[in-house]
Amino acid sequence: MKLGSIDAKNLLVAYKGGGYDGCAWEWNYAYYDAQGNFHCIAATGRNGCKTHEQLVEYITNCDKESFDLYFLDKTRDIKALVDEFCVSHVIGIAKALAKIAPEIVLTVKCSICGKEMDCKDAKGTGIHGTGGAHYEYTDIICDGHPDVE
Ligand SMILES: [Zn+2]
Repeated sequence: MKLGSIDAKNLLVAYKGGGYDGCAWEWNYAYYDAQGNFHCIAATGRNGCKTHEQLVEYITNCDKESFDLYFLDKTRDIKALVDEFCVSHVIGIAKALAKIAPEIVLTVKCSICGKEMDCKDAKGTGIHGTGGAHYEYTDIICDGHPDVE
């Protein structure tokens, strides 16, 4: 598959979906596997893209700040992805990838003991409000710790 001039393989696309009542938005995600097949991971609101064609149209018409590309066969891009996005999203992406591209492993360091682990086995902790009704985790921890609130 081609995404503009990009050869879309092992490629995670993070883009601004949402648009509830025309204001808020949240990150949406799509993934192109090693064969270049499109997979929708999260598509919400009016900009959510459920197909390759919709995503191509979105990427073609949006500004550069509205999306990010991560090549998950590159360790550097995996690290950037894990650092950039909130914990619950990263865990969600890792769980989706475990089904559609099990060869890709998102590794992350436990906030408590520093052990490297597979993101899909991680837990979020340290829940805090982000303003409004939304809550988010601050830390990502391995299964070696009892649940911490
Ligand atoms: Zn740990």
